Amino acid sequence: MGFCINCGQQHQDGIRFCRFCGNQQPGDQLLMRLRQEAEQIHYMRLQMQAAQQAAQQQYAANNQYQQQPPRW
Ligand SMILES: [Zn+2]
Repeated sequence: MGFCINCGQQHQDGIRFCRFCGNQQPGDQLLMRLRQEAEQIHYMRLQMQAAQQAAQQQYAANNQYQQQPPRW
């Protein structure tokens, strides 16, 4: 079973047009591509988060070693 990308109604797999709204449905190849792109984006975000965390840890470590005197 699949769901219409336009109206969200449930319909059978393999149809090309939604029987409720008539919207053209993505084929299996397109769905595969979208899934792959989504996985790539997910992976990139994980990498970015890891890099950000590493940078924050580095920043915190630097601050511990370079304690600046209070300004007043
Ligand atoms: Zn529809």
